[in-house]
Amino acid sequence: MENFLKKLNEFNQRCEDIKNANLYFYLRSIESIEEPYVIVNGRKMLMLASYSYLSLIGHPLINQYAIDAIKKYGTGTHGVRILAGTEKIHEELEETIASFKNREACVVFSSGYVTNLTSISTLFGRGDVVICDKLDHASIVDGCRLSGAAFLRFNHNDLKDLERKLQNTSNNRTRVVIVDAVYSMDGDISPIPEILDLVRKYNALLMVDEAHSLGVLGKNGKGVEEYFGLNNDIDILMGTLSKTIPSVGGYIAGSKILVNYLKHNARAFVFSAALPPAACGAAIASFKVIEEEKWRIEKLSKNINHFLDELKKAGFNTLNSQTAIVPLIIGEEEKTLKVTRFMQDRDIFVLPVLHPAVPINTSRLRMNVTASMDKEHIDFVVDALKEADKLFKIT
Ligand SMILES: *Cc1c(COP(=O)(O)O)cnc(C)c1O
Repeated sequence: MENFLKKLNEFNQRCEDIKNANLYFYLRSIESIEEPYVIVNGRKMLMLASYSYLSLIGHPLINQYAIDAIKKYGTGTHGVRILAGTEKIHEELEETIASFKNREACVVFSSGYVTNLTSISTLFGRGDVVICDKLDHASIVDGCRLSGAAFLRFNHNDLKDLERKLQNTSNNRTRVVIVDAVYSMDGDISPIPEILDLVRKYNALLMVDEAHSLGVLGKNGKGVEEYFGLNNDIDILMGTLSKTIPSVGGYIAGSKILVNYLKHNARAFVFSAALPPAACGAAIASFKVIEEEKWRIEKLSKNINHFLDELKKAGFNTLNSQTAIVPLIIGEEEKTLKVTRFMQDRDIFVLPVLHPAVPINTSRLRMNVTASMDKEHIDFVVDALKEADKLFKIT
């Protein structure tokens, strides 16, 4: 009991200290949204920390579908999907995603986090081997731990290390390689074609998390397979409905037998309530909008290229980012917090990422580009960063 209270108190004291130094940036509440700006404490700030890559939050058609769903079904469901919770709108959503991802079937869960946790731990277990990239998302790591399978991790995007892990585990065991399509802290793209070659060579399976590639990669925003010109080669496709898709939920798309297995065995499907109808309606409409408003994908891609070009020209380290997630490496934690304060004082809503979320001494600003930004917005950010560089010596 004393140790427990000590733990809570020490942590709370640390938060207090950071707040007193005016370097606490978390849990701030947004009052309203005017893409690409948000209003915080009455101040209009340029939003540079959003996952809404195609700027679909508040889109009229998406709002309308959510409202229509409430009018038709109300706000909740009759419980878990497998019993009384399934409504036509859940089936419509699953069909929409399966068709968008060119798969036989799809199952949705109540969040992306829950999707990884429940799917990995349902599909794989004792005796099996899960092999992850060291930078895989926490929800994948937690799913692997919960599964009870042997859990191996290879160095980030290191194909030789991945091959060693495959060579060192028996062909008789079920082996699955699980990677992010786009890494959430670095913004780089996983070498999926090469990973697929290895996975086939060693008779393993491939699962890919598309949280940051859906709507971002590929001419039509279909994701990593479209980007690499692959043809349904990934065995298990996972994604979220809370980033590019302005709703909540997660999905697995794949074969009919895979999806049917999950619908009867995944504990988060069998023991947790169905997605609310409004969330389903919003997600269905979002996939329509992505197909109909191609300009959003083009504009996002233009913005990403412009931002990365300008940052590189100014000498900043953006790792190997090629996507809407743009890290700007600063290194020291204290300096990173001070640069964040400098940017926020210029009404730029940007957030720091520190250890343990990223390796020690790679503290960074993580900036997200969105479709609603114009060249002027990006230039404004770049100019502020150049000023910060003079003051804090970042490059
Ligand atoms: C955000 C994220 C998730 C979790 O999705 P939620 O819908 O927010 O729970 C899973 N994987 C990756 C790579 C993510 O970035």
